[in-house]
Amino acid sequence: MIDLRSDTVTLPSDEMRRAMANAEVGDDVYGEDATVNQLEKISADRMGKEAGLFLTSGTMGNLIAVLANCQRGEEVIMGSLSHTFLHEVGGISALGGVMAHTLPNQVDGTIKTEEIANAIRGEDIHEPVTRMIILENTQNRCGGVVLPIEYTDQVAALAKERNLKFHLDGARIFNAAVKLNLPVEELVKPFDSVTFCLSKGLGAPVGSVLCGNREFIYKARRLRKQLGGGMRQAGILAAAGIFALERNVDRLEHDHILASTLAQGLRSVQHIWIKDGSPQTNMVFIDLTFHSHLNMSVLNQNLISRGIKVDVINNQTMRLVTHLGITEDDIEKVIIAFRSILE
Ligand SMILES: *Cc1c(COP(=O)(O)O)cnc(C)c1O
Repeated sequence: MIDLRSDTVTLPSDEMRRAMANAEVGDDVYGEDATVNQLEKISADRMGKEAGLFLTSGTMGNLIAVLANCQRGEEVIMGSLSHTFLHEVGGISALGGVMAHTLPNQVDGTIKTEEIANAIRGEDIHEPVTRMIILENTQNRCGGVVLPIEYTDQVAALAKERNLKFHLDGARIFNAAVKLNLPVEELVKPFDSVTFCLSKGLGAPVGSVLCGNREFIYKARRLRKQLGGGMRQAGILAAAGIFALERNVDRLEHDHILASTLAQGLRSVQHIWIKDGSPQTNMVFIDLTFHSHLNMSVLNQNLISRGIKVDVINNQTMRLVTHLGITEDDIEKVIIAFRSILE
């Protein structure tokens, strides 16, 4: 199978598995797992933050960031196409009683700064308290697009002025850093806190890390325990995360090149439309116009029968994601398959 559904489908390499098997471990709930401690330290250093916390998932990271900052009935401003709004099962409201105040994401992944400014509540006793802003980089649903640093600086200034917490859902922040050829630390500097995923393009089997200042991470550690996310000899997993950070960041460039090659090939196939200037990173979103005998589910079945898996978003759009399990050869096969099905 050529699996382009997501960069979460990567499998740990033999080398990564060896690092996991040899990890020094202890009970992390007592703070005694040397490998987890090391991962948290490396992560915090990379992000330029005081402390880090190893978590089961990015969803847990965003949830804990919200729970650490917001009381029940308060609200968080985020994009209408953000992962936290669309794909985290409403956790912030189910578990925190916190409202998502959504504002439209533009095609470049940003939310207009003036719309954020206008959405922040004032002193009116009828209104909920706005406590926090979340941005996402790379912005997944907008096509894996990278947020400009000038933009995140602007929003950070606004957050500071209005006394709001500023969190980054940086599930794929390393893709953004590699794309901009800048240290990841610079991209996350404007934010109070950041989560990033080890289990996506970086190729680890499990885990995300939440980073921020010491006081915030202390609260976050309690919340993780409350949510049932206290893990014991988790160094087995953290070792994969360390391996991923040390070995699999620079190679993301290769995923971006393959995504570009894929998009270039697919643009020449009839009935396929891909947004100009895309892809920026490792995701290719394609829009299809179908002729009478073909629809999305027929196309998808046809691809599966040729050993190709993609992420069907709706009747018109699909997403193809490159990652460390995909080769140049695979990309060529995929382009040929689309051409022969659609033409
Ligand atoms: C994957 C993802 C997350 C978190 O995902 P988990 O599957 O819970 O690790 C958060 N934000 C974005 C943008 C994502 O793509």
